[in-house]
Parts: sequence; C-alpha cells; structure tokens
Amino acid sequence: MSFLSYEEMLKRAMERIPKKIKDEKRFRIPEVMYEIQGNKTIIKNFQEFLSVFRRDAKHFSKFLCRELATLGYPQGNFFVLQTMVSGATLRKKIESYVNEFVYCKQCGEPDTKLIKEDRIYFLVCEACGAKHSVRSI
Ligand SMILES: [Zn+2]
Repeated sequence: MSFLSYEEMLKRAMERIPKKIKDEKRFRIPEVMYEIQGNKTIIKNFQEFLSVFRRDAKHFSKFLCRELATLGYPQGNFFVLQTMVSGATLRKKIESYVNEFVYCKQCGEPDTKLIKEDRIYFLVCEACGAKHSVRSI
C-alpha cells in the first residue's frame, strides 16, 4: 500500500468531479453593481462582465443601449446609461445577452468566441466546435 501526498489526493479528488460541475462553477454571471445618479444609471462592474463573458465593450454596451432604448458612454471602468434602470431590468438584459451571445446554441457551454465574417457575427464554440450565426446589433 502506497501513501499519497496531499497534492496527489487533491488531484485525484478533482479528477472525480465531473467536468460539467467544474465548468458551471467557473462560469457565473456577476451580480450587477450599479448606481443611479440623477437620471443616469452607472454600471460599476462593466469591466467584470467583459472579462467573464470575453466580449468587447462595444458589443456588450451596444446591446444594452439597444435593449434599454437609451444612449450610453464609457466612463473610466464604468459604463453610463442615460436613463434610470432598475437592478432587475439590468439583470434580465444581461442574462438575455449571455443567452444570445455567450452560451453555445449546441452544447450550452459558455466557452465561445464571437467572430465577424463578411459582416455576419458567428458564435464559435471552443467546447464542441459548433458555429452559429447570431444577429448583428
Ligand atoms: Zn458548444
């Protein structure tokens, strides 16, 4: 009988966790941090969404502005929407962004890239290789 080091035991335990659970743990939509100032809504963790979703600021902000029928502009690490929006509405819009532009339509994994070919946007999945066209915004 051989003894395992702590690291080896940890490694073995990790290997027993199904991949799906690890992935779900890794990807989580951040809780939106916002502040209403006058008639503006400031999204304070805008950068966090970009890095978790791996999308560029232009695409994500354009979506939010369209969906909320308002204009907006970046301010440092924040993003300012020129209207008053409730936290519930923000969360709902961010969720629809993820459903449409982050999750793979084939396998449901969030490991996707958004690429543009001939003016058409495609969602390319790094987990299963699927490629789906998505609407341009
Ligand atoms: Zn996929």
